[in-house]
Amino acid sequence: MKDRSDQRVDRIVIVGGGTAGWMTAAALSQKLAGTGISIQLVESSAIGTVGVGEATLPQIREFNRMLEIDEAELMARTSATIKLGIEFRDWGRAGDHYIHPFGVHGEPIGPADFHHYWAKAHSVGKAADFGSYCLPIVAARQNRFALPPDNPASPAHAYSYAFQFDASLYAAFLADYACARGVERIEGKIVAVECDGESGFIRSVTLESGSQLSGDLFVDCSGFRGLLIEQEMKTGFADWSQWLPCNRAFAVPCTISGPVAPYTRSTARPAGWQWRIPLQHRIGNGHVYCDRYINDQDAVDLLMNNLEGEPIADPKQLFFTTGKRKKLWNRNCIAIGLSGGFLEPLESTSIDLIQSGILNLVALFPEKQCAASDVDEYNRLMDLEYDRIRDFLMLHYVLNQRDEPFWRDMREMVWPDSLREKIEAFKRRSIVPQYDQGLFQPASWLSVLIGQNLLPEAWDPRVDAMTGDELSTRLQRIRTSIETGVDHMRDHRAFIESYRACFVGTEAKPA
Ligand code: FAD
Repeated sequence: MKDRSDQRVDRIVIVGGGTAGWMTAAALSQKLAGTGISIQLVESSAIGTVGVGEATLPQIREFNRMLEIDEAELMARTSATIKLGIEFRDWGRAGDHYIHPFGVHGEPIGPADFHHYWAKAHSVGKAADFGSYCLPIVAARQNRFALPPDNPASPAHAYSYAFQFDASLYAAFLADYACARGVERIEGKIVAVECDGESGFIRSVTLESGSQLSGDLFVDCSGFRGLLIEQEMKTGFADWSQWLPCNRAFAVPCTISGPVAPYTRSTARPAGWQWRIPLQHRIGNGHVYCDRYINDQDAVDLLMNNLEGEPIADPKQLFFTTGKRKKLWNRNCIAIGLSGGFLEPLESTSIDLIQSGILNLVALFPEKQCAASDVDEYNRLMDLEYDRIRDFLMLHYVLNQRDEPFWRDMREMVWPDSLREKIEAFKRRSIVPQYDQGLFQPASWLSVLIGQNLLPEAWDPRVDAMTGDELSTRLQRIRTSIETGVDHMRDHRAFIESYRACFVGTEAKPA
């Protein structure tokens, strides 16, 4: 066997200390432990971080488990609450509401999937709303939570959860983790990037102080500016604003009182939507909008007039263009986080995309020359992830029945073929996309398709083998079992308090 030690990556430089930078540093410090590979992270307090990103997806629990982080400690340190899903208000018509949960609806009651039985019963007025057959939705509506059972007796009792947390505290928590495992943190502003004239590979970055950091592999976590991947390497950006046109947001925290909802809320507004994310000590709010349909002043007024508590900071404005870099990995530079792309915050997918980027990097960890086959495979996997998320986000918009110009245009735009095919398959025969890989599985698609009032015209014919009475009995039995399950859960706030108690003395100091 050939000695390839001279090809080994010895030095990794991570540019940026936001959520993306510190998640990358934490994961690499753990996954590369014992290899002797040095990891440096450079961040600039003068530049700061984007300072938003509070809602997550259940996959973050796998990330934390990989790092052997205790959840009770994490919740205490990040002021976290539980998230069982996202409630969408007024997204179909004004007055509508549904929850996209982290769990399935119903349980198998015959050879066809549950939703085929539900669709038939619903068509003759013999089914309750779809959400009533989903345990995390029923629990969310009552502000209740319990940790999911390891071995649930019925699939209807299997569900997952995510966190709503203070993302800056999460980054600080991971910074401690990474530094304790040998990551070197460097404060300073990068003012120049040096590349190899022949290969175009990045060789070093220079700080304002004059010091230079050399590396074999550079991870660009510099946020929207894409300091390495775009400003230096000119990788190119695939602009998706024709499909996801929202391009601005105002964000503001407010006080919290009363029950703490174990879910995020998204309320449709005339030219976008407003988020509400309850943490232990405050509510995060934001208005995401498209500046072609509303001006900034009206956008911020709309947000400030629709807060549930007193604002505890000035509203912060953010600008973005939806889309992604044409290549997330280019030569020896991998863009993770906002430097790689952003598809707007509707389904809290950004932190999850950071996680995918890190896990794919670990799986395809390169040698110094970064073999084209590894780079191509990484880009293929990430493109697939982005494409599927784009279609899923668009689904919420294109199926609206609202009257405002923004919403009419969203409905009437040219949809990507991949999305049109999915919507038509569901409409004709109740068929939902099945992915081997990808973030949003059939249960998610079903929640939004039905939640946005798209009901199928036909269902699996095997459903007709069951009589109407038997079907009604089975559906009722599932509801009763779910309601009994939820009755045994605790109030969400009481759950948080008891979980915090596991970490007495290490609680986060609410800002
Ligand atoms: P940033 O936080 O911008 O960090 C960039 C880092 O690079 C900073 O440390 C900065 O100092 C450093 N840097 C930049 N230039 C230099 C330089 N020249 N020298 C040295 N250092 C430099 N995601 C979710 O998952 N859930 C959500 O609910 C959610 N909501 C969002 C709402 C909005 C309106 C927006 C815009 C985003 C939201 N996101 C959400 C996305 C989320 O905020 C980001 O994915 C996450 O914060 C990661 O950001 P980042 O680390 O890539 O970039």
